[in-house]
Amino acid sequence: MVENLHPNLAPMYEEVLERNPGEKEYHQAVYEVIHSLNPIAGQRSEYMQWSILRRMCEPERQIIFRVPWTDDEGNVRINRGYRVEVNSALGPFKGGLRFHPSVNLSIVKFLGFEQVYKNALTGMPIGGGKGGSNFDPKGRSDAEVMRFCQSFMTELYRHIGEYTDVPAGDIGVGSREIGYLFGQYKRITNRYESGTITGKGLTWGGSRVRTEATGYGTVYFVKEMLADAGDDLDGKRVVVSGSGNVAIYAIEKAAQLGATVVACSDSNGFVVDEQGLDVELLREVKEKRRERLTAYAEARGGSVRHVTDGSIWSVPCDVALPCATQNELDGQAARTLIDNGVRVVAEGANMPCTPEAVHLFQESHVLFAPGKASNAGGVATSALEMQQNASRDTWSFEATDTRLEEIMTGIHRRVVETAEEYGQPGDYVAGANLASYMKVADAMVALGVV
Ligand code: GLU
Repeated sequence: MVENLHPNLAPMYEEVLERNPGEKEYHQAVYEVIHSLNPIAGQRSEYMQWSILRRMCEPERQIIFRVPWTDDEGNVRINRGYRVEVNSALGPFKGGLRFHPSVNLSIVKFLGFEQVYKNALTGMPIGGGKGGSNFDPKGRSDAEVMRFCQSFMTELYRHIGEYTDVPAGDIGVGSREIGYLFGQYKRITNRYESGTITGKGLTWGGSRVRTEATGYGTVYFVKEMLADAGDDLDGKRVVVSGSGNVAIYAIEKAAQLGATVVACSDSNGFVVDEQGLDVELLREVKEKRRERLTAYAEARGGSVRHVTDGSIWSVPCDVALPCATQNELDGQAARTLIDNGVRVVAEGANMPCTPEAVHLFQESHVLFAPGKASNAGGVATSALEMQQNASRDTWSFEATDTRLEEIMTGIHRRVVETAEEYGQPGDYVAGANLASYMKVADAMVALGVV
């Protein structure tokens, strides 16, 4: 790996490995960005001076805290809470909270690192950070989730604010959790500071389209990728992994644009619905009833297959949208997709494709979009929510959706142009990393050594 890096970059990556032992997801995210800097490592010395890259790889602040709470049986439970504030050169730290048993420091750091570059690509004035806990909301009652969120916020509140750090949702943190978190923040501070947290409900400071934004944005990005190739989504077969917030709205938008989405998944397996997934039913099962996809298959009946062994990526498709979680699509899955004729892969989740999978897609001339470009619509709409909060205004669905689509089109254009400028046409990974790195680096040079 290190041998593929420019001699100016290799020692910096080695330093990251040494300083952050065992954090494999963090190493993976950092390597991908550093590798993309090869074309500027020799010539563009202003981006290599003042230890810009070294500072970018060392988060500004990392907070780890105990989260004690009481379950419905009266047992005291202990979880670990995190907030990693990675970079605030472009604006207040901004990024979601993830509640999932797999959450550890490496995962929060990789997500926070990715967030810096993603947020820079949106063109909005936001820095990057991420947080969360190894708490698992699955199977917990509303009262338990509320007590957990209140305890989590009782520590977090002192670190966040409209001008400091603005959390939002991620896996396991939806509008229910955001409500309990915001409620506790409001109670502790005695201030209705809407701009401190995004993903809020529509009656208490939220933005229209925020729920749909990550999934819709991913599909708007795919639309641009296809348009550049003289094509569109009409009649395409699409496979979407996951069945959470990102997946559901990617499915909805792809179907609206004429595609047939034939499969989606959860941690127990996947469903194949050749007629095209019924989004209304999916929302009913996953969002309202909080049930598994088996319930979808039962309710839909007929030709729907529920598969518990095997990979969703064995379902043939033109467009694959991994919208579940990190490293869910490996080299073997990539090979199967390529053999089955996939043409576009766009990440709706954060880093769902392994480095080997990305390499295989690029080598086979499959159009591949990294999450920091293609899933930036969620955080971009969070920034629109912050704008509405700051001006005490609410925008219509149409106006907000139009802004989202413009932002995604803008990201696509910047990424494509940057890749061309640095001699890597069609390489969305290089384009996204170079464009965002240079934007953050410029601001860091201007702000001095801080
Ligand atoms: N968790 C989302 C992401 O990965 C959204 C973050 C936000 O809205 O701040 O970008």
